[in-house]
Formats: sequence, C-alpha cells, structure tokens
Amino acid sequence: MPGRALGAGSRHLGARGLASAGIGLAAASYWTFMSPYSQLLGPFPYRSWTTERVVALTFDDGPNEPYTSQIADILGSSGVHATFFAVGACLERHPEPARRLARDGHVLGSHGYSHRLGRCVGRDVLRDEVSRAEAAFRRQLGLRPVLFRPPWLLRTPGLFAVAHERSLQLVSGEFAHACEVLQPSPERIARRAVAKARPGSVLIFHDGAEAKGGDRSATVAAVELVIAELSARAYGFTTVDRLLGVDPYR
Ligand SMILES: [Zn+2]
Repeated sequence: MPGRALGAGSRHLGARGLASAGIGLAAASYWTFMSPYSQLLGPFPYRSWTTERVVALTFDDGPNEPYTSQIADILGSSGVHATFFAVGACLERHPEPARRLARDGHVLGSHGYSHRLGRCVGRDVLRDEVSRAEAAFRRQLGLRPVLFRPPWLLRTPGLFAVAHERSLQLVSGEFAHACEVLQPSPERIARRAVAKARPGSVLIFHDGAEAKGGDRSATVAAVELVIAELSARAYGFTTVDRLLGVDPYR
C-alpha cells in the first residue's frame, strides 16, 4: 500500500511537473516568437536607444474609417507626424485616407496583406503576403514601403529570410496599453501610454482591428490626450524611419 501511495504521489508530481514544463514552454515560445522585445530570432527593434526626448506613435491594422482620418486630423492640428502600418486589404478598401496620410507627411509601412494568423508562418506564404501588400501599396500610393511590422508581431526564421530578400526593415514597438484593442476608456489607454514613454519609444496603437475594421473611437480620443501630455513633458514626435535611420520607401 505505501508503495502504491508513493506511486500515486509520484504520478501526481509528474503531472504537475509536466504542466509547469508546458507552461514554461508556452511562455518561452511566446517570448521567442511573439513578444515585442525578444531579439532571439533576429533584430526586431522596439525602440531607439537615444537620449533625445522623442517618441514615435505608430498605428496598426488600418486604414479604417472614420478613425484613420480622425487620427490624421488630430495629428495635423498638433503638427505631429506618425507611422502607419497598413494592412494591404484595408489599403485597397480605403485608399483615399492612406493617400492623405502620405500627403500629410506621415510614413506608411506594411503590415502584410491579410493579417490572417494562418498566413504568418512559412516562407512562401510570407513572401506572398509581402508581395500582395507591396502590390496594393504600388497601386494605391505609388510607394514601396521598407518598414514591415509582422501581424501579431509573429516572427519565424522564414520572416527574417523574407525580410532579408526584400530588404525590409522589421519593426516592433511597445503596446500603448495591453488591452487597447478592446478599447478601454481613452484615459486608461493614455495614462498607460504616457507611463511607458521613454526617449526613443515606439508606441503601438491600432486604428483598425486586424483586417476587419471596428470601432476605434477610444484610441482616437486617447491619441489626443497622449500628444497633449507628452508635449507637456517636453517630448517631441518622430517617425520610425527617422528613429531607426532608414529610408521609409524604395
Ligand atoms: Zn495588426
């Protein structure tokens, strides 16, 4: 009986050990492949190590109306330039707001064509995503973007290979607020974003939701608060290409 009890105990410990090993593995996988900060697979800049008080505001998953245009209005009236990582499919849906961003002096980078998670792995699929997004940029804007932010920030060795082939500059960043995509109040988003800002920060907001559009009014209101508060703290604003010292287009 004692042997049986011991056996049951070890089985129990074994299951618990396996569970914590599983959690550890999941955490390590997340860190390696999706964390904004990991550089394990290759260079993935999430900020610039400058002492100058500048930050780069970035917006993913657009264009998405009316929110992209509302953000452009706020940036314009504040004299701030930002970087927009546009989804190719959204660019074809809303070309005019994207053209306006380019005219207003904002920088457009690519965020792939479809934003589908199933199209973020595998070299051939990634190459196709990059090409289709580039075709949309060429058709709608006459531009070939250099900056590329992978959807979900998902990196694989294949992504680094495609980025090298196409001379793309991969870009990470820090989420302005972990739940910004779920649209908590503008004040909450802004408070977190301002607390995260450091000289050289690249802050990630969303003017869309994947390739599906969606309400981004809390983000729009938050951006106005963030610009006001960071300006009061003597921060200026720049674009990612300038922060990283690369050309935005080829
Ligand atoms: Zn995205």
